[in-house]
Amino acid sequence: MENKISCDICIDLIPLVTDGVASDESRKAVEEHIKECPECAAVFSGTVPAPQKEDVLLKKLRNRARLGLALLLMFGIFFGINLTKGVDVFANSVIMPLLGVLGYMIFRWSALYMMPVLLYIASAASFLIGMAGGHDAADSASLISWAGIYSVFAAAGVLTAGLMHFAFRKEEKDEEKDS
Ligand SMILES: [Zn+2]
Repeated sequence: MENKISCDICIDLIPLVTDGVASDESRKAVEEHIKECPECAAVFSGTVPAPQKEDVLLKKLRNRARLGLALLLMFGIFFGINLTKGVDVFANSVIMPLLGVLGYMIFRWSALYMMPVLLYIASAASFLIGMAGGHDAADSASLISWAGIYSVFAAAGVLTAGLMHFAFRKEEKDEEKDS
């Protein structure tokens, strides 16, 4: 009889099976599943904790927060790039690392390449907007070098945020172990 269960169902059933309160059918289904699924087998044997079910509302809120952060990031990038032609350009040595931190909050380590991508796209866009507006367009060579410099500053922010996040998580885990 074909009686396969999904990983989600298997994870739900595992505590019942290990507590010895599952029905025979559930227990068999779990045993069959973990024969073919190393991920669930690891959860069953206790080597890996069961994946936490994310509350749907929490997930929704998190997505909304991420969208807000992404809008803030885009605004910040355009704001910073617009400073390039003025005397406030050095403010970018602070703004770009902060944007890197934002980028890490949104993309995690992918921010290391997402930030340069966004900076180059935004630079190119502001270059085209400037040309369309009849402004003295900065030549594209300087545009590329500025985007490159900003990428380095942003990467410093991403690295700082990432390492702090990593250290903080490790501390939390160590505390859990101690208690
Ligand atoms: Zn599975």
